[in-house]
Amino acid sequence: MNNSSTGYYFSEEHDLFRQTFRDFLEKEVKPNVNQWEKDGFLPREIYHKFGEMGFFGMTLPEAYGGMDGDVWYNVIFDEELARMNSGGFSASIGAHPLLALTHLSAEGTEEQKQKYLVPGILGEKIGCLAITEPGGGSDVQGITTSAIRDGDHYIVNGSKTFITNGVLSDFLIVVVKTDPSAKAKGISLLIIDRESKGLSATMLDKLGWRASDTGEIAFDDVRVPVENLLGGEGQGFLYIMQHFVTERLSLGSGGVAAASYALEVTLKYMNEREAFGRKINKFQVLRHRVAQMASEIEMNRAFVYSLYRRYNDGDYPVKEASMCKLLGTQLADKVITECLQMFGGYGFMEDYPLARMFRDARLGQIGGGTSEIMCEIISKMMIEGQEYKEPVIQH
Ligand SMILES: Cc1cc2nc3c(=O)[nH]c(=O)nc-3n(C[C@H](O)[C@H](O)[C@H](O)COP(=O)(O)OP(=O)(O)OC[C@H]3O[C@@H](n4cnc5c(N)ncnc54)[C@H](O)[C@@H]3O)c2cc1C
Repeated sequence: MNNSSTGYYFSEEHDLFRQTFRDFLEKEVKPNVNQWEKDGFLPREIYHKFGEMGFFGMTLPEAYGGMDGDVWYNVIFDEELARMNSGGFSASIGAHPLLALTHLSAEGTEEQKQKYLVPGILGEKIGCLAITEPGGGSDVQGITTSAIRDGDHYIVNGSKTFITNGVLSDFLIVVVKTDPSAKAKGISLLIIDRESKGLSATMLDKLGWRASDTGEIAFDDVRVPVENLLGGEGQGFLYIMQHFVTERLSLGSGGVAAASYALEVTLKYMNEREAFGRKINKFQVLRHRVAQMASEIEMNRAFVYSLYRRYNDGDYPVKEASMCKLLGTQLADKVITECLQMFGGYGFMEDYPLARMFRDARLGQIGGGTSEIMCEIISKMMIEGQEYKEPVIQH
């Protein structure tokens, strides 16, 4: 199956969107992405351009400036971003709609949608989602950032770390404990404006995803108006769980897309590079590796697409979405490592694409729930028969 095939999963409109999006990325992103990798963050201008083109709102409601498209637009979004070979670019430009805007769209009040979602879709306001804390990211129920009610405000204290768009975003969707004595039931979401007094952020230096601003954020008696509570008090954990399925599908499909793009550029290189008087694509040992990688990519892609189809039809496949994230990100790591080997010494050089791919792929198995946490979820479902039903949320 070719990822631009029409028919079974993608319609002609999807293919048209893919071509428009690809052309846009080639023109507006490709020539600049190396500079953004050096800068360590994306310029605001690129968010504006995405907004103008309607790329942030593909699957968001028309009433707020979106296009009301189906999940296949998200798949195309992930697949085409992978071709830019900058995990940091994909992370920052993707976290805004996937992590921040989806929460606003699903749980926001009309007033919140007008204030944050509408400018968010236009790329005028950038958002982030802050769950992870210095004390731990895997155990979401164990977070300690507190938001204690004081009249018509919450007073927020605590800190978050490793937050994508954590320094440059205009608003933050922050996961807090409104009842610090409770676990999951004490968790709520707050929208916090960047310029709030008592909020400070520092940019973190990191192995890969270098074009993305990853921030550590401190909250020191930050006063947040109660109207910035996103959804119901004590419902935050359910909201996060509900969105984890789409996040895991996206990370899994992003992994498959990264692996696929790595193989594409490697095939081209293998057809140019010569050793012992032959093109290296004539060496049987390398040819068999290509065949193995291509087979694994196709198997994983078929699995990803089948899950998106189930999700699009209203299913809530927690186990399979966790498997998809586990295998898709592992595949990226494995394929990119092998492709780097095919480049020999050039694989290690920054002038060639594999070095960055290698660094960036490593994050796949850590962010959005580690591989170990995916295995925990899958094994609990397989061994103890645990069920994770779609949360019933009271609005
Ligand atoms: C570049 C980058 C961007 C990120 N962006 C965001 C973001 O935008 N928003 C956000 O909220 N977070 C973000 N994260 C955080 C990310 O989601 C966490 O790093 C991740 O969930 C793991 O949490 P941790 O780092 O605290 O590891 P820990 O939870 O401390 O885990 C440490 C190790 O122990 C293992 N472990 C933990 N619990 C178990 C268990 N029960 N069984 C077996 N093994 C276990 C883990 O798998 C891991 O190997 C980002 C991280 C990075 C590096």
